[in-house]
Amino acid sequence: MRISLDRQSEVPLYLQIKKNLRQAILSGGLPADTRLPSSRQLARDLGVNRITVDTAYAELEAEGLVYSRMGSGTYVLPLLEPIKTHTTSSHPVWPAWQQELAKNNPARTGNSALNRIRSTEKRQWIDFSVGVGDERLFPEDEFRKVLQRVMRQDGVDAMTYGDVCGYAPLRQTISQIFASQGLLISPDQILITSGSQQALALVSQVLLQPGDTVFVESPTYGYALVLFQSHHVRIMSVPVDDGGMRVDELEKMLQQATPKLIYTIPNFHNPTGSCLNSHRRRQLITLADRHNVPIMEDDFVGDLRYDGQAQPALKSLDPGGRVIYVSTFSKMLMPGLRVGFLSAEGPVFDSLVESKRVHDLATSNLFQHALHSYITVGRYQAHLRVSCQVYRKRRDTILLAIRRYLPADVQFTPPAGGFFLWMKLPEGCVAENLLEASARQGVLFAPGNEFFVSPQEGASYVRLGFASLTPEEIEEGMRRLGKVMFLTKHPNPL
Ligand code: PMP
Repeated sequence: MRISLDRQSEVPLYLQIKKNLRQAILSGGLPADTRLPSSRQLARDLGVNRITVDTAYAELEAEGLVYSRMGSGTYVLPLLEPIKTHTTSSHPVWPAWQQELAKNNPARTGNSALNRIRSTEKRQWIDFSVGVGDERLFPEDEFRKVLQRVMRQDGVDAMTYGDVCGYAPLRQTISQIFASQGLLISPDQILITSGSQQALALVSQVLLQPGDTVFVESPTYGYALVLFQSHHVRIMSVPVDDGGMRVDELEKMLQQATPKLIYTIPNFHNPTGSCLNSHRRRQLITLADRHNVPIMEDDFVGDLRYDGQAQPALKSLDPGGRVIYVSTFSKMLMPGLRVGFLSAEGPVFDSLVESKRVHDLATSNLFQHALHSYITVGRYQAHLRVSCQVYRKRRDTILLAIRRYLPADVQFTPPAGGFFLWMKLPEGCVAENLLEASARQGVLFAPGNEFFVSPQEGASYVRLGFASLTPEEIEEGMRRLGKVMFLTKHPNPL
């Protein structure tokens, strides 16, 4: 038990011990029924007389915070009512520095309509808002066995910090997986990160200063926007169409501003599902090079293609050091692994490694060992084949269900892969209002405003994530959504 005693203080030692324990009990750090160390043990640990500890325990008992069981020890009592410190009525009164913080950094991510609905109502949702694969496909049993095996075989090697760049054999496997798909990245140019979100964060930390400019697609991944905003940069939006980022618009924008970074999701874009066509890929590399701007390529679901031909990764078109490639095992395998990675070359790679070191020292070594033990090129390809089969069927189901149940004037382009279908609502239909109504029917989706720098631009769009739902759930969800849309348009049908 960690109790720090100030032996120079005028406060008697027994009171210091009591105060520490009291705080731990009231804060929940020592929950009800926790057995406190015996007074002999604690006295030995703290280097004090046993009577000092006995006195502290007696005072806690007198306050009704602990009780002693004959011959068994001293135990924490349940708190009679939650203790509210520094509160007036039901609202906590935070110290001034906390209030300042809330004023200067309003938490954008927690305030979305979706989060509000989720936090106020606990029920079984048909949830089209999420951007993950189906957890029923996670290799739960195999992974449990692998974890056990790794703990047995690798022992403490898997339990120390490990290399800041990541477990070398896993980097080797990643390099082989990507080589099998035509992207050559050396294991030495791979930095394993805690999910690809951390890769985005490290790149931002290394390349961006307050006041800099970043170019992003419009719309784009919401948590990338929030991340860039947290760096106090100016975000400029390049429009997206069915062929991905409008590189012609990018060219015009580069005449007006020189960004410190271009962030792009070229495959099965979040949220629109579009892919950057191969002509634009080449143009993008050329333009970025001409204007001396790094590209961050976020390839979060690039492998999940259901139709058509894969396009070359921007990284594979990079003559060297222009593109920072980012990918993840979250979508292909499971997000709880928190294993993603980035690949880059040159001084920027060294800076990213340093940034990784100071931010979390290393990604979980144990999980990297387990992932390495689980994944081989063959297993990855097999898992990919099954995932593509399952998700293709779901994509087809949602396309049919939209035609069957939703008004004919919704607009969308069928995605050729990935998780998302991006839909423009009929004239006059506002996504956030629709969400409120559809939530009452147990159906959630992501309203479009979360994906734009100016949220109102997304007011008439929704993102439907179809991969985590079964065909039956998709069908039922679209049926309910169709009903809600009909009722919103015709409030009093006869
Ligand atoms: N990029 C995109 C486009 C995403 O949608 C996400 C999460 N949904 C991420 C990166 C981050 O995912 P993770 O940290 O789990 O790899």
